[in-house]
Amino acid sequence: MTGDRDKMSCVEFQAQLPELVGSGADAGAHPHIQSCELCRALLSDLETIAEAARQLFPVEEPPEELWEHIELAIKSEEGEPGDSN
Ligand SMILES: [Zn+2]
Repeated sequence: MTGDRDKMSCVEFQAQLPELVGSGADAGAHPHIQSCELCRALLSDLETIAEAARQLFPVEEPPEELWEHIELAIKSEEGEPGDSN
């Protein structure tokens, strides 16, 4: 029962793994990942790195909610009835 013939090799898969992760595709759903523990571990490593990179270099604009918080913080600071000076 050796049906490994049309299985992608780890080298082949790993060559396109960064691209898969980078494109936002669900690399975890890839058939090779499903059958290869080694590449599954590699994928989780890559995702950790990608996540860290996203936090270091945020390319997305802050969500509107965040701006609301900032705005509120500024307003509450300005509107604070300070001591009579
Ligand atoms: Zn593999």
